[in-house]
Amino acid sequence: MYTCGSCKKQVTLKPDDPIRCPFCGYKLLIKERPKVSKRVKAR
Ligand SMILES: [Zn+2]
Repeated sequence: MYTCGSCKKQVTLKPDDPIRCPFCGYKLLIKERPKVSKRVKAR
């Protein structure tokens, strides 16, 4: 799951798909983190 860097829509890509937003054509997608939040303790 990715978020478009331009229109902020959520984009799902298959492994073979090019990295590109299908809504606006923007080529920068931000990787979404899965819902599970990993907490890392500092120290
Ligand atoms: Zn977009």
